[in-house]
This record gives sequence, structure tokens and C-alpha cells, in this order.
Amino acid sequence: VADADETILIVGAGLAGSRCAEALRAGGHRGRIRIAGEEPETPYERPALSKGFLAGHQTEKSLRLRGPSHWYDAGIELDTSTRIKSVDPEGAAVTASGSTLEWDALVLATGAKPRHLTGDDRAGVHHLRTLADAATLRRDLVAGHHLVIVGAGFIGLEVASTARTLGLNVTVVTPDAVPLRRIAGKEVGSLIADRACAAGVRLLTGESVSSLSGGADGRIASVSLASGRELRCDVALVAIGVRPASELAHGLVSIATDGGIETDNIGRSSCNRIYACGDVASSWRPWLAKFQGSGHWTSAADGARAVATAILGAPAPPSQIPFAWSDAFDVRVQHVGGPPPIGATLELDASAGDFEACFRIGGELRCAIVGNRPRRMLELRREITSSWSRGPR
Ligand SMILES: Cc1cc2nc3c(=O)[nH]c(=O)nc-3n(C[C@H](O)[C@H](O)[C@H](O)COP(=O)(O)OP(=O)(O)OC[C@H]3O[C@@H](n4cnc5c(N)ncnc54)[C@H](O)[C@@H]3O)c2cc1C
Repeated sequence: VADADETILIVGAGLAGSRCAEALRAGGHRGRIRIAGEEPETPYERPALSKGFLAGHQTEKSLRLRGPSHWYDAGIELDTSTRIKSVDPEGAAVTASGSTLEWDALVLATGAKPRHLTGDDRAGVHHLRTLADAATLRRDLVAGHHLVIVGAGFIGLEVASTARTLGLNVTVVTPDAVPLRRIAGKEVGSLIADRACAAGVRLLTGESVSSLSGGADGRIASVSLASGRELRCDVALVAIGVRPASELAHGLVSIATDGGIETDNIGRSSCNRIYACGDVASSWRPWLAKFQGSGHWTSAADGARAVATAILGAPAPPSQIPFAWSDAFDVRVQHVGGPPPIGATLELDASAGDFEACFRIGGELRCAIVGNRPRRMLELRREITSSWSRGPR
């Protein structure tokens, strides 16, 4: 617990870092609150990067989490274009330009970075995490061109959907039998596959990429698959997941097997006075009996508030249940409870335009996924909250 006049340094000016700073100030912290963020922008919303912003419906300005004077008015020192290069557990952090920032409590909110494929540094091959990534990808999405997306998770599918509306020929390649299999299970995955195919996406399942080849100018020209197939490609997106950006914490605190910083349910790491929230954190999940990251917006916002309570010594909020949403092919998918657990019984109700999938163990709701049924999701969230609050049996 920090004294009211201590300095709190937050590394990462994304959703989690900025929300944590605001919650600390709102919760009564009187000392300095500093945020160091490596990106040049003030905190912004990432979800639109694969949707409205990429489609050209939303401007850069509309993505800002707060107006320009908000940080100053709230008494939060926001240093953009400031990368923290190392942390001394005794209470200092060094920036890439060599300045030292002192802290009494440290919050790591450094998010995640996209995973890479060999050879994906070629011109015309993209990843999507930042506003700069989205702006570059957007320039390469030209109607009539061939886009190959490697990976059929939420981001790959959202970009596929947006690119179809922009008139590109889109191929999605995944080693899985259906899209979203690991996140949502095969039945929901095949409903989404039907929507993608109806929107004109060529979906190549059970396929993996063996190489990305360039033309004479070095720019991507084709994608070779392990099956021997060759795909014409003007632009590619590698969307094969992310890894927690936890490098600063290595050697300082315990790191989970998924690479995230191990925390309890309120973001406390294994080191006194070092906290983590957002995509870099792997929280203890009593239901799974392991540490696991979430990688979604709601958990980042909830985790940020929880860390603020831990630092302030305020009562801890109830443990949050993983929740995510995604928009692609005119379906709003909402997902509560994390991936479907092994051994769960599925109750599926689907019609042409919407669906609901409930995964239960011993009658208890453990995970639910709906498409275009937001009201039903409200009920399911209430039900799962009450079963999670009883804890695992
Ligand atoms: C394209 C896209 C679409 C998404 N759509 C959805 C959606 O529809 N629904 C949903 O639930 N979730 C979605 N998400 C996920 C959601 O946006 C993230 O879970 C959320 O942004 C995580 O917030 P964060 O603050 O933990 O990490 P980030 O938002 O990644 O912020 C971390 C910040 O820390 C900075 N940083 C890293 N290292 C350092 C360092 N050493 N020094 C200083 N700064 C550093 C990074 O540059 C970054 O600015 C989407 C994500 C992306 C990329």
C-alpha cells in the first residue's frame, strides 16, 4: 500500500496504464502519478484498429481515450515517446534516452506484442497492434488486390471482414479445423466459418504457411503452404496471436508459463510494490488452478482498477470473469468465461442471424458465447458471475 504522497510510475500508456492512473487519482492518491509510454500518441482505443479505423469510418482523433488536456487537468504526468529500458527493483527505471525515473510503486502495463513468422519483415507483410500498424495496413488495402491473412483468431477475422467491405480478395489460412477453435470451440467456429464464406472469404483450414516469398522488388508476392499450395498475395497480415510484453519484469518477478507476469486477483506480482495489469498480466484463475492472461479490453480495464485498489489499500473488487467481444461479418460475438473448458457439455441454439452457445460442467455455466444476442449475454453474465463466485468444487 502506497502512502498518499508517494510516486507511482506506470509503464505503458495503453488502456490499462491510463485507466490505472485515473483510478489512483480518483481513489485519492495525492502523490505523483507518472505514465511512461513508448508510443508517440496519447492513450487510444485499439479495438477500432481492425474495424472502423481500418475501414476508414473512424479518424485517429476519434480513437483517443481522452482529450489532450485531460491528463494535465487530472494531475497525471504523461510522457509519450518514452520507452522504459530497464527497471531497478530498488525504485528506479531507466528510459531509452538514459533518464532515470524514481518510483515508490511500479505498475507494469506494457501490453503485448504480435508473434512473428520467419520472413515476415518483407514489404507488404503486416502485423496489427498499434495505430501506426493500422495506418500502414490501411494504405495497403487496395480494392481488387489479394490479401492473405495468416491466423483465424478474432483479429484475423475482423481484418478479413473489413477488407471484404473494401473490395479485396481475402484468403484466411489456419492450421485449425475451424476459425476461433481455441477461443470458442469447433461448433461456434463453424458458425463463424459459414459467415466468413458467405461474405466471400476463402478459408483454408488445416493449412499452415511454409514461406512468404517476394517478387523482384522484394515485396511480398506469394505465400507457400505446407501442403504445397501457392497463394497469390499483394498484401499479407500475420495474425497468429501475441506474447505478453513482459521483458522488463524478467528476473524481477515470477513469470507464468504463458509469458505473462504472474499476479493475484488484484494485480500484485511476486515482488512487493510491483504490480501488473492488462495484456501483460497473467492472473491466478481459481477455476483453472493456473495463471492465465486474458488479452481483451474488459479485463485490461478491470485489472487496472483492481491494481489501483491494491496500491491504495482499498477493498478489493470481486474477481473478474474474462469477457471479450468481436465484430466481424455482421456478427457481434460476445464471449464470457474464457475458452470452453475440457469436458463441458455444450448447449447450442443457432438461427440464420444469431446464436448462443453455453458450456456447462455439472450444470454450472462455465463459458458462454453469443452472436448478435446482446440481451441474452447480459443474463448469461449474471448467471456465470454467480457460479464463479461460489468457486470451483
Ligand atoms: C487490432 C486490435 C483489435 C482489438 N479488438 C478488441 C475487441 O474487439 N474486443 C476486445 O475485448 N479486445 C480487443 N482488443 C484487445 C484490447 O485492445 C487489449 O486487450 C487492450 O488494448 C490491452 O490494453 P493494455 O493497456 O494491456 O495494452 P496496450 O493497449 O497494448 O498498451 C500497452 C502500451 O505499453 C507500451 N509499452 C510496451 N513496452 C513499453 C516500455 N518498455 N516502455 C514504455 N511503454 C511500453 C506499448 O507501446 C503500448 O502503448 C484488440 C486489440 C487489437 C490490437
